[in-house]
Amino acid sequence: MEKMIFATQNKGKVKEVNHIFRDLNVQLISLLELENVPEIVESGDTFEENAKIKAEIIFDKYNIPVIADDSGIVVEQLEGRPGVYSARYAGEDATDEENNEKLLCELKNFPEPHTAKFVCSAVYFDGEKFLTAYGEVKGRIIKSPRGKNGFGYDPLFLPDGFDKTSGELELDEKNKISHRAKAFNELKTLIIKSLPKT
Ligand code: IMP
Repeated sequence: MEKMIFATQNKGKVKEVNHIFRDLNVQLISLLELENVPEIVESGDTFEENAKIKAEIIFDKYNIPVIADDSGIVVEQLEGRPGVYSARYAGEDATDEENNEKLLCELKNFPEPHTAKFVCSAVYFDGEKFLTAYGEVKGRIIKSPRGKNGFGYDPLFLPDGFDKTSGELELDEKNKISHRAKAFNELKTLIIKSLPKT
């Protein structure tokens, strides 16, 4: 079975993407399972640039095809913030709770609804070519967290058309609508198309 690295240390993402790639005949290895993982500085201005940076650094180190993503939450009233800074909104080593608190604090003086979207750029890199895909899910930020599933801003995000936050949805449900699911399902299709015909 072919090996492929998923360039993330985020357990939530690993669960989601393993589920999406389960029918592809590849062994997906995350950075949590590898040693001497190089430091990755997400210095890009866009989600796609950051995803490509991650994929290139990891490919150069291990020489195995890589999938990577960069994702975050984009809040309309905050002119797109936290955006590419979502993981470190409340500081370099901020916890999910600290980031959520900061988001609520920033939105305190704005009227509801706090329109927002989760976005995700996913890329595949095999040392020669990049394949790129994108997904988003629209919704709004609520006033206090609900639900223990998922990670990050999930407890504060109410997807359009749902009365449960992403943190209350089961993984199967989240994977039907999420930005990451859309991006990685599209990426999976692109990967399958690019494989040599046997
Ligand atoms: P990344 O690992 O650089 O892509 O950072 C993504 C950050 O955006 C995470 O640390 C979360 O704070 C947030 N984020 C991205 N996707 C999700 C999601 O599906 N649910 C909740 N938060 C998310």
